[in-house]
Amino acid sequence: MVRTPGFHPVNRGSIPLGAAIKYKNMDYTNLKNQDSEIFLNIEREVKRQTEEMELIASENYVSKAVLEAMATVLTNKYSEGYPGKRYYGGNQVIDDVETIAIERAKKLFQAEHVNVQPLSGSPANASVYFAFLKPGDKVLGLRLDHGGHLSHGHPVNFSGLLYDFVQYSADSETGRVDMDAVESIAKKEKPKMIVAGYSAYSREIEWQRFKEIADQVGAIAFADIAHTAGLIAANEMDNPVPIFDVVSTTTHKTLRGPRGAMIMCKTEHAKKIDRAVFPGMQGGPHDHITAAKAVAFGETQKPEFKIYARQVIKNCQALSDKLINLGYKIISNGTDNHLIVIDLSKNGLVGKDAEQTLEQVGISISRSTIPNDPNPPYNPSGIRIGTPAITTRGMKEAEMEQIAVWIDNALNNKNNQNKLTSIKEEVKTMCLNFPIPSI
Ligand SMILES: *Cc1c(COP(=O)(O)O)cnc(C)c1O
Repeated sequence: MVRTPGFHPVNRGSIPLGAAIKYKNMDYTNLKNQDSEIFLNIEREVKRQTEEMELIASENYVSKAVLEAMATVLTNKYSEGYPGKRYYGGNQVIDDVETIAIERAKKLFQAEHVNVQPLSGSPANASVYFAFLKPGDKVLGLRLDHGGHLSHGHPVNFSGLLYDFVQYSADSETGRVDMDAVESIAKKEKPKMIVAGYSAYSREIEWQRFKEIADQVGAIAFADIAHTAGLIAANEMDNPVPIFDVVSTTTHKTLRGPRGAMIMCKTEHAKKIDRAVFPGMQGGPHDHITAAKAVAFGETQKPEFKIYARQVIKNCQALSDKLINLGYKIISNGTDNHLIVIDLSKNGLVGKDAEQTLEQVGISISRSTIPNDPNPPYNPSGIRIGTPAITTRGMKEAEMEQIAVWIDNALNNKNNQNKLTSIKEEVKTMCLNFPIPSI
């Protein structure tokens, strides 16, 4: 037998499945030994998440299984293309993983076609626009200060720079999108696309009516369900996927999966969407994240997730009721989903101050604009609060009442350091009583 010089292989048999994936390193000792600086910062973040109250509406805690799927050797692979049609060899396993993710997503949302490769919500939306529009084409989107997302045509975002966005509004009295106004703007402007689905909007969206309006003017109906996808998958909110031409969603908000996104569409648009994502917008997909998406979709199919989604909404309504009871003005006077927007203008507060005060008591929220906000987005008149993360910790209506009282107490005592410190201790005690499932 001729041997290559220096190459003396020892036959070790093959690695048995199961043994290969024993995560000796998942206790983080390698990370700790090799890079104590980053390790320490991760520890600090674990502590922060454990001890503090997460009320940011777009955040959640993934399961251990989802975390483990992300930390795998799948990150090593290049797999440009789609299952069965890759531009790189060695993709047999990745093809199977991606196919499982696609099939689970199809079933969850009754989708005809799914692309699970988008890297995050904004890039997914860029791909949707890229699939259907040319630069300069007219699109209808909800104003950012009324609850829309930056990628729905805000002037500082690529969407607003590349496309001719015309914005529709939420009614400042009811806080709800005025569908008659949408219809008349659509008829006047004749857009190529209408975008519905928002970031700071607490009510059901009239998907059927949007689709009818889009059909009347020959526009593509595009829904962005980044925030509510988990509630929709659990049948707790109306599903636009069977109605709309195309639907994008992040996978890391109420869907409780890894940071990422996907696009769902009718079969007739499948080729356009796939081509827009790759090679149009992205290179290789993040296969470890695809695996984690599949795991999350598997969790979403379980009865426990339906109970979770229902509790998210019940919690949000309890929080909203208590805050109204304490004298706060909630946009639209309540909520159908996982978030509320509070108008603080009558409390003599602005969003940034409220955010900073609540941070001092260990409660994370995000500042938010209110419809027709006189203040700029960096320092708007409201705050947005959501219940997906605290519901994952197992908190229920009784805890919501207490949280509302803490928020009120903190905002009323923003210059009383002793008071804020004592609230912070109480918040921490509650958090430690409701451990994060993956920590
Ligand atoms: C969060 C969000 C996005 C963007 O997602 P990223 O992953 O942060 O890029 C897009 N659209 C809506 C409606 C969102 O709420």
